[in-house]
Amino acid sequence: METYRMPTVVIMGRDCVIKSGGIFKKTGRKAAVVTGKTSGRLSGALDDVIRAMKDNDIGYMVIDNVDNNPGLDNVRETADIARKAGVDHIVGIGGGSALDSAKTAAVLCTNDITPIELYDGNIVNDPLPILAVPTTAGTGSEVTPYAILTVKEKGTKASYGDDRIFPKYAFLDYKYTGSMDRDVTVDTAADSFSHAFEGYISNRTTRMSRLFALESMKIFIDSFAALRDFSMTEKVREDLLYASMLSGTVISQTGTTALHAMGYALTYNMGIPHGRANGLLFSAYIDELDKENKEMLRELSVKLNIGDISVLSDVFRVLFPERIMIESDKIRKFAEDTLKQKSMKYTPAKLDSERIAGIFRSIVK
Ligand code: NAP
Ligand code: ZN
Repeated sequence: METYRMPTVVIMGRDCVIKSGGIFKKTGRKAAVVTGKTSGRLSGALDDVIRAMKDNDIGYMVIDNVDNNPGLDNVRETADIARKAGVDHIVGIGGGSALDSAKTAAVLCTNDITPIELYDGNIVNDPLPILAVPTTAGTGSEVTPYAILTVKEKGTKASYGDDRIFPKYAFLDYKYTGSMDRDVTVDTAADSFSHAFEGYISNRTTRMSRLFALESMKIFIDSFAALRDFSMTEKVREDLLYASMLSGTVISQTGTTALHAMGYALTYNMGIPHGRANGLLFSAYIDELDKENKEMLRELSVKLNIGDISVLSDVFRVLFPERIMIESDKIRKFAEDTLKQKSMKYTPAKLDSERIAGIFRSIVK
C-alpha cells in the first residue's frame, strides 16, 4: 500500500504574498510573525507580510529571535511570547530554522507541554494554523510535517513529526532567496538535493515520491554550473525554490536516510550548517550505497541522463571541496550517534559503525 499526503496549499510566483490578502484574511485576526534575526528583513519577506497584514486589517507581532538550528530554550521563548500575546495563527518567515520554530510555536501555543515532550507524541490539541514563507531554497519545511530542533538532552538534532504541523499555505516567492550569499545558497541547494535523492533511494520510496524526487534532482543538476560559479539568475533561483518544495513533499512521505543522520552529528558537534554537512558527506555516501545498490543507482543515472552515478559524486566534490579536522575518537562517537537515528532503518544498505566511520573519514583533512 502506498499513500501520498500533501495538505499544504502551495502558492508560487513573484509577489504572491502581497497578492494573497484573501488568504491572510481568512486565516485569523492576530498573527505572530516568527522569523530569524536577519533573514525576514534582508529577504524583503517581512516587509511583504507586514504589508499584507496591514492591507487586510490583521493584527500582528514580529518575533525575530530564532537561532540557527534552534534549541528547546529558543523555541520555548518564541512560543511564550506568542502565547502571551494571544495570537490565533503563526506566520513563519525564513530558512528551515525559522519555519521549524514557527511550527513549534504553533504547537506550544495550544498545548501545555514543555518542548522536550514534543518528542513523546504529547500533542493533544490542534496547533494554531501555520503559514510559511521560505527565504532559503533547501529544507522544504514549508511543505513538511516535521520540525527539527537541537536537543541537548538527546545530544543531537532530532525531528518530531505531526501531520497537523503541515503549514496550511506556503508562499514561494523566489525574490526572497536573492539575498542569500554563496554559502547559504549552495548549502541549502545541497540539502534540497539530498532530500530528493534520499527520498528516491529510501526503503519507504513510493511511485509518486520518485516522480517529484526526479524532477527536483533534474533541476539541481541543471543549476549546477550556476551554483558552482555563483552566477544565479532569477530563473535559477525560482527553479531551485520550486525544486526544494518538491523535495520537501518527497521527505514528507519517505523521511530521510543515513546521510541526514550523519549530517546531524556534524551540525550538532561541529556547528556545520545542515545543508553543508549533507553536501560534504554526499560523495562518500553515494560510493558506499553503490556497493549494494548498483542496479538502482544505474537506473537513476539513466533517468537523470548523467551517464554514470559517479557524476553526482563529482558534482558534490566540486561544490564542497573543503576538508575538516575531526579527531578519530570523535569519528567513532559520531558513527555510534548516527546509528541511533531512526532514519537509519530507511537506508537501503547495511551500514555498520565501521562503514559510517569511513564516510566521516572521507571528509577529514
Ligand atoms: P537556516 O538555519 O534557517 O538559515 C541559515 C542562515 O541563512 C541564517 O543565518 C539565516 O539568517 C540566513 N538566511 C536565511 N534566508 C536568508 C536570505 N534570504 N537572505 C540572507 N540570509 C538568509 O538554514 P536552512 O538550511 O534553511 O535551515 C536549516 C534548518 O532546517 C536546520 O535546523 C535543519 O535541521 C532544518 N530542516 C528542517 C526540515 C523540515 O522538514 N522541517 C527539513 C530539512 C532541514 P537568520 O539567522 O537571520 O534567519
Ligand atoms: Zn535536510
